[in-house]
Amino acid sequence: MEISKYNSPNYNKKARSSKSITCIIIHYTGMQSERESLQRLIHPKSGVSCHYLISRNGKIFNLVKEKNIAWHAGKSKWQNYKDLNKNSIGIELVNKGHRFGYQSFTSKQINALVILCKSLKRKYKIKNSLVLGHSDISPLRKIDPGEKFPWRYLSSKGIGIYPKTRFKNYKKLKNTFQGIFFKNLHNLGYRYLNTALRKRIVKNFQRRYRQSNINGEVDKETFKISEFLTKKAKIS
Ligand SMILES: [Zn+2]
Repeated sequence: MEISKYNSPNYNKKARSSKSITCIIIHYTGMQSERESLQRLIHPKSGVSCHYLISRNGKIFNLVKEKNIAWHAGKSKWQNYKDLNKNSIGIELVNKGHRFGYQSFTSKQINALVILCKSLKRKYKIKNSLVLGHSDISPLRKIDPGEKFPWRYLSSKGIGIYPKTRFKNYKKLKNTFQGIFFKNLHNLGYRYLNTALRKRIVKNFQRRYRQSNINGEVDKETFKISEFLTKKAKIS
C-alpha cells in the first residue's frame, strides 16, 4: 500500500491513545476536483481535514497522523459515541457529490479503500458495526458517501455490515411498524431520531442498505432490512 504524505494543520494538538480509535468514518469530498479537495483539506483556514484521502485513480494520501484527531465528522452521534472525530479514522473519497454531479466510485478507489480499511481494522481491532458513513452518524445534516457507495461489496470483503438477503417489496406498512423500525435503528446506533425530520434518516438508511429505491418511506423491504440488521448487529 503506497501512501503519499501531506501535512494538514487541522487537528487537535493533543494526541489520543490508540485505544480510543474504534471507528472508521467514510465520506466523499463533494468538490469539483481532486486538487481542490486536497487544497481545502490542508488549508489552515478551512477547519476541515481527514486522515486519508483516496483519489479517483486509487492513490492514497495521508493528511493527519492516526494518533491525532482530524476534523471530518462534525456534530455526530452513534450508539454511545458523541462527536466521533475523537474516536475515528476519517477517510475521504474524491467524488463531486450530489451537488456537483454525483459519480460512481471507481474500482481503483474502492480497492485502495478495502486495503486501507483492512489494515486499520487489524491495527485497532475495529468492529464491522463501527465502519460507518458520515450519513450514519450525522443523518440530519449529511448524505455522504451516498447511494452509489458499494457497502455490499465492502461487506463481501469483510468490512462493515450489510443485509445478505434482497426482499424487493415496496408495499406500504401500517404506522405501527414505524415505531419498531425506529427502535431497530436506535439499537443499531442511529441517533437524532426524535425529530420531525425523520424522513431524512429513513433516506440515509436506504442510501446505505436499499440503494435501488431512496423513497424515504418505511416500506416492507426497508422494515425487513432493519429487522435483519438488528439481529445481525448483536453478533458482529
Ligand atoms: Zn462527510
